[in-house]
Amino acid sequence: MRMYDIIIKKRNGEELTKEEIEFFINGYTIGSIPDYQAAALLMAIYFKGMNKKETAELTIAMVNSGETVDLSAIEGVKVDKHSTGGVGDKISLIVIPLVASLGIPIAKMSGRGLGHTGGTIDKLEAIEGFKTELTRDEFINNVNKYKMAISGQSGNLTPADKKLYALRDVTATVDSIPLIASSIMSKKIASGADCIVLDVKVGSGAFMKSVEEAVELAKTMVEIGKSLNRKTVAIVTDMSQPLGHEVGNSNEIIEAINVLKGKGSDDETEVALTIASYMVILGGAYKEFNKAYSALQEIIKTGKAIDKLKHLIQIQGGDSGIVDNINKLPKAKYHIEVKSMSEGYVSSIDAESIGISAMLLGAGRKTKEDKIDYSAGISMKKKVGDKVINGDTLCILHTNLENIDEAKRIALDSYIIGNIQEKVNKYIYEIIQ
Ligand code: URA
Repeated sequence: MRMYDIIIKKRNGEELTKEEIEFFINGYTIGSIPDYQAAALLMAIYFKGMNKKETAELTIAMVNSGETVDLSAIEGVKVDKHSTGGVGDKISLIVIPLVASLGIPIAKMSGRGLGHTGGTIDKLEAIEGFKTELTRDEFINNVNKYKMAISGQSGNLTPADKKLYALRDVTATVDSIPLIASSIMSKKIASGADCIVLDVKVGSGAFMKSVEEAVELAKTMVEIGKSLNRKTVAIVTDMSQPLGHEVGNSNEIIEAINVLKGKGSDDETEVALTIASYMVILGGAYKEFNKAYSALQEIIKTGKAIDKLKHLIQIQGGDSGIVDNINKLPKAKYHIEVKSMSEGYVSSIDAESIGISAMLLGAGRKTKEDKIDYSAGISMKKKVGDKVINGDTLCILHTNLENIDEAKRIALDSYIIGNIQEKVNKYIYEIIQ
């Protein structure tokens, strides 16, 4: 078999066989297929797509590229969640302590930033000492002992996705339904959870820009989950503007802490509680959504949720003192205010541009090799529907870089100020079970 023939076949819009998909995934994982051929096939998949059978086979080949975790010996139904990626999306940091507080074991496998979107693993690395790459045994032990574990992809779990994820990030091949579905579902299957809740983001800051596309991606992933005996629910949520008020790494940790202390913004709190509710329902703690939601609200009120976050940080080796003293998190040298040059109401904020601006400030990666500046990011002072007058601060850019003209211009241009006060979009669009 030759990689060249597989590329031509997909380029011409033909269906790939299971053997061809395995040949590609295995060869790319061990390094016998170079980046340039893998990138060519990814681009062909981007344009020609994959049918359901190919997408499921791609997912399974990616699962089989490394080790899998067997959590079956651990008592209880193990749950996991994953987001398709957004700007200011710190929901995982909030739901892990929430769900674990209700005694449901959570085995969370997370990714790094991709394109303009942030990644939970990068955010957690803003906390000094936090170990984000657990070995398979450490992951199992933590779920067993503490009912919660979060890990990035260590070399031995879905190594194919780890390599492809980084390659897609720099070859403009991220926003493809089969590539996103197989990337997410392979990680979820490999990490051994019984049930999966997917947060499928839609809007200017998401890879899926329309509700129709987001629903198609959601359905594709729910079907893959079902075919592999994992109870899967997908929730389509709004990403037409950044979620909450903070975009970056250490500032997003601070915002997650605030939600867990009951001081979160409405959008962040509602999305987190909805996702956590479905996780505890799948985990068997509640049958009715309203009861699950109220129980989670109570966990926040009583302070259990924030204590659980401290515990999570401790067991993964991080400095849990950051929860009570946020000054221990990395802080940027410069804080530049972006001011409005007109008057009216914020009618939209292009979330992808805010993500790109944050990346230029140092919060994300331009190339695979870039290092992240955890202190860099953006605080959104005005959001859709807010009134602004000339000279009002729209957002604040945090950075250690001297020359940030481009980031500043992009952030300013992302705001559209109009005369009419727009209604804020719904936070949740659709739930696919
Ligand atoms: N998150 C993932 O894990 N993979 C993707 O392809 C997109 C978002």
